[in-house]
Amino acid sequence: MRHRTLLPEPGRLSSIFEKPLAMNAKNASALSYDEFRRYAAALKPETRMFIDGELVDTDSGARFETVNPANGQVLATVPAGSSEHVDLAVVSARKAFKSGVWAHMEPRARMEVLYRLANLIDEHALDFALLDSLDVGKPVLEMLTGDVPAAALTFQYFGETIDKIEGVVTNTASDAFHYILRQPLGVVACVTPWNYPLLMNAWKVAPALAAGNSVVLKPAELSPLSSTLLAHLFVEAGGPPGVFNVVHGAGSTVGKALALHMDVDKISFTGSTAVGKLMMVYAGQSNLKRVTVETGGKSPQIITAQVPDLDVAVTYAVNGIYGNKGEMCSAGSRILVDVNIRDEFIERFKAKVGATVRLGDPLDPATTMGPLVSRSQQQKVLSYIDIGRKEGAELVLGGNSPEGFDAGSYVTPTLFSRVNNQMQIAKEEIFGPVGAVLTFSAIDEAVAIANDSAFGLAAGIWTSDVNAAHKMARDIDAGVIWVNCFDHGDMTQPWGGFKQSGTGRDKCLETLLTVTQTKSVWMHLG
Ligand code: NAD
Repeated sequence: MRHRTLLPEPGRLSSIFEKPLAMNAKNASALSYDEFRRYAAALKPETRMFIDGELVDTDSGARFETVNPANGQVLATVPAGSSEHVDLAVVSARKAFKSGVWAHMEPRARMEVLYRLANLIDEHALDFALLDSLDVGKPVLEMLTGDVPAAALTFQYFGETIDKIEGVVTNTASDAFHYILRQPLGVVACVTPWNYPLLMNAWKVAPALAAGNSVVLKPAELSPLSSTLLAHLFVEAGGPPGVFNVVHGAGSTVGKALALHMDVDKISFTGSTAVGKLMMVYAGQSNLKRVTVETGGKSPQIITAQVPDLDVAVTYAVNGIYGNKGEMCSAGSRILVDVNIRDEFIERFKAKVGATVRLGDPLDPATTMGPLVSRSQQQKVLSYIDIGRKEGAELVLGGNSPEGFDAGSYVTPTLFSRVNNQMQIAKEEIFGPVGAVLTFSAIDEAVAIANDSAFGLAAGIWTSDVNAAHKMARDIDAGVIWVNCFDHGDMTQPWGGFKQSGTGRDKCLETLLTVTQTKSVWMHLG
């Protein structure tokens, strides 16, 4: 039997991490606060960029600081890349793409690389969890039970699709044979936000790689630390150097240079609506590269009088707005409650927050809510709380930075009642732990309020009336609808918005269509 070695030689790169912690998610989840602190102190993040399989620093020595928002201390300084680094990374990505070293690698071998990468992400769960937790203030335990396994699963899921990307033969006249190939685009630039650093990088990079593209990743400047490790592990998993590149730096230089680049075929962007719009402009000003943008939200959480279990709905409403400190694109920030149950809802909501939300050091396994990502994000959120007060909304919970946490950028879980949908706090994405309770008296009114928004990312509906549930699910303008739950889903779920919440979809098979293109081959049979 002919034997073929499908697997490329594994790389050797994790050794460049001075002290890789290499502990999987299951074992790391059992660590104590003291152990997390000890491991965090031992962590030596690799901050250099990763271009053509090499670690790259700036010649000029230009660097920017990344700060731990729990205590305001500088965690690391990171090379501030320039448009020259973008050029180098794009040249590397293009060279790798043209060589076919990845795009034409046997599908099964490519699948193995992504499976191995998924395993390596788990093996390095503690490194990833600590890097992102320290960088953005996310509880380390949440990283270990949520973001890290979800990132590994993303690479596994898209790995599984590789030998299932198919073309078609069409039913044409008998003098022709027509088939349609589905091919990779070439060089995909992934520009990502800071709220789920590892996971958003995975959502962008995994489908692009699975389809055979080369990638240049530009992580947010507030959360650069875990991206070089991810790119290294790709090479360690057997991915060819040059296929997955990372350039650090400011959005206005590195992000813009990528989006304007004449040799980038696609921008896959997640971030704010304002920058998403700029991405489309940059594409139009340069080479008409494809653009998909996943942007902001102001998602309604509709609690009708027919709610099956008010306590369950309250729990989801609390998590829907205070999960990830409210720094969630899908945050259920507009809580629409039937006017007849509003007071009861608010009382139970406050009690649930008191019983379950615990502000603290993200390294403490007991912490459920860490600091906001930065001092300026904290100030932005506090200024929205001031705006809410001035607009005449009733502050029923929180509304300040908590005592005893002055060194960090914390904000207490905050809730406004008596909000109307024209107020700024109901219209704009606050991106922090600030919920707004609005009321309605009829289902149609709830749907009208839900849809009276520039955004349309997600919506939650709580009712035991099946007809009402279907009608609302049909009529609400949002890409993701949850009925009697919130924030549930798996990799099969298309993730993306209507209106100004974006133009693309993450996760799900549909995403592959956005990182591939069709080619029609028409053969005349003579
Ligand atoms: P942001 O738009 O400020 O930045 C996102 C990325 O774009 C960063 O890497 C940044 O450096 C880069 N960037 C900034 N200015 C740029 C420019 N002029 N040109 C090119 N690149 C530029 O967003 P953020 O503050 O990092 O993230 C928060 C936002 O992300 C929120 O609005 C949130 O709703 C959104 N988000 C959406 C989803 C989704 O799936 N729809 C998921 C997560 C986050």
